[in-house]
Amino acid sequence: MKFLVFTLTLLTTLCASGLQTKNIVLITLDGVRWQEVFSGADKAILNNKNFVENEEATQDRFWVDSPERRREKLMPFFWGTIAKKGQLYGNYRIGSTVRLTNREWFSYPGYNEILVGYADPAINSNEKVWNKNVTVLEFLNGQKQFRNKVAAFCSWDVFPYIINSQRSGIPVSAGEDGALGRRLTDREGLLNELISEMPKPFDTVRWDAFTFHLAMEYLQKETPRVIYISFDATDDYAHQGKYDRYLTAANVQDGFMEKLWKWLQSHPFYRDKTTLMITTDHGRGEGDKWTSHGSSVDGADRVWLAVMGPDTPTGGEMRDHPAVFSNQFAASISAFLDIEYNSIHPIGEAIKSVFIEEN
Ligand SMILES: [Zn+2]
Repeated sequence: MKFLVFTLTLLTTLCASGLQTKNIVLITLDGVRWQEVFSGADKAILNNKNFVENEEATQDRFWVDSPERRREKLMPFFWGTIAKKGQLYGNYRIGSTVRLTNREWFSYPGYNEILVGYADPAINSNEKVWNKNVTVLEFLNGQKQFRNKVAAFCSWDVFPYIINSQRSGIPVSAGEDGALGRRLTDREGLLNELISEMPKPFDTVRWDAFTFHLAMEYLQKETPRVIYISFDATDDYAHQGKYDRYLTAANVQDGFMEKLWKWLQSHPFYRDKTTLMITTDHGRGEGDKWTSHGSSVDGADRVWLAVMGPDTPTGGEMRDHPAVFSNQFAASISAFLDIEYNSIHPIGEAIKSVFIEEN
């Protein structure tokens, strides 16, 4: 009898969380503004000849008067799928706020905050410096059930340093790197050739399409339980002041996520057991300042968050919630996997509203 009671207690404890999530896909879209995510193309920028090469074609593709329809045009997966099945945070117009806690408002400090769970004032440049802080990816890779089940695919070549691939042992394909994992698939062989043959579109950044297709191949052959995918073209085109290309890049990134989600939901290892979290490393300015970000640019600390998965209640566009901060994402990722994230440094706590309430 005692044994039975013990067994029952153990079973209840094991199932106490009731969480369905077994896998996590984290995606970041570098420097995509909340303004476009929640209202689509911005009229003031779209009508400025300095920022748009072919006005008519860009208007045709991205403009419609209603902001609800405009954002659907720009990001059909966000508004057609995530808004119906998951949650979207960060529409300042309805009082939903997601903010950075770091004071820099550019990439390395932003990615550090997202992945580590706290802002580190010592990180104040985008230099290729091995991150002293341990990311949630490294933390999870250190847990027995996740060891060698964590990987990252990133367009920007600073990511091996941010994730500290040397210390963490996490495979990171970034910049000019190619495929990861065992035996190359035919598609990976071709992707590797193209990466070496095609000039990089930006100084330190490869095409997002390479990042996406390499990640898809890896998912199919290695079935990682935690994968991080980081796209970048949006930020690069924004810095160049090319609004039409910035919009196109965001639209393409949205399409990548749609293909990825469809594939995850078609695969028995991932279907209904995978939580998708999507965010950005920083915001950008308003009006003519949209090209820029950093601590001197008003509003560049405003970011956003999308979450969808078996443990997240349908909320669509979220409102009336406590302010969300980027330092809460790492603990949330770990909590979805039913592991309490801890660090030597205080971290932001998991966001309560992304989890179905226990009764
Ligand atoms: Zn950035």
